Amino acid sequence: MSHHWGYGKDNGPEHWHKDFPIANGERQSPIDIDTKTAKHDPALKPLTTSYDQAVSRKILNNGHSFNVEFDDSKDKAVLKGGPLEGTYRLVQFHFHWGSNDGQGSEHTVDKAKFAAELHLVHWNTKYGDFGKAAQQPDGLAVLGIFLKIGNASQGLQKVLDALGSIKTKGKSADFTNFEPCCLLPECLDYWTYPGSLTTPPLLESVTWIVLKEPITISSEQMGKFRILNFNAEGEPEELMVDNWRPAQPLKGRQVRASFK
Ligand SMILES: [Zn+2]
Repeated sequence: MSHHWGYGKDNGPEHWHKDFPIANGERQSPIDIDTKTAKHDPALKPLTTSYDQAVSRKILNNGHSFNVEFDDSKDKAVLKGGPLEGTYRLVQFHFHWGSNDGQGSEHTVDKAKFAAELHLVHWNTKYGDFGKAAQQPDGLAVLGIFLKIGNASQGLQKVLDALGSIKTKGKSADFTNFEPCCLLPECLDYWTYPGSLTTPPLLESVTWIVLKEPITISSEQMGKFRILNFNAEGEPEELMVDNWRPAQPLKGRQVRASFK
């Protein structure tokens, strides 16, 4: 590629395989979750999200999405249980969203798209740091939560209020005392399957845990995401919208459900 990967016609998901051949690999994400073929696995444990001691640090526009980053130097905010062995530390969360409310999620459920999808990214502490964990088949765990249009989300408002200060690529701002607990739905029933990062380098190191229950966001709040830019300050404005990768082939993988 003559230019960096992105979501445009010339550098979008259909082009990524040229620089990242694993794009056509055996366990790529996202996928369509077919609820009829997902198999209830009674051996799956309940999920434990221990986020009350989380320490958020900053919010950053990375030119593809924006990350809310956490101090992951100790076991402060961790994900355990469910399909996971061991302890996974929260390092960041980010979103994928659409140019309109009818699309934006990466995973789909029976082919239905949601307005956005939240990804809470965790790494397996047995590997010591995120970079090493990302190279391992059981290195990362991403908790995926759908956003559907409905009542405004109080929890999200603090995030949305920060976006004005990180409009363009490379901008960051302090973002402390944010509690990610407030982004979770009531019910933690989930689907799980082995997959990958959904952005280059598309590493096949992710245990996906996708919650069945969406959280809601108002259409007005959804509009706040779309003020962001893919470009850096001073460059021609390209609105940061449709930063989602479409569903990838299942290739024999089994999606398991924690619920009947
Ligand atoms: Zn993501």
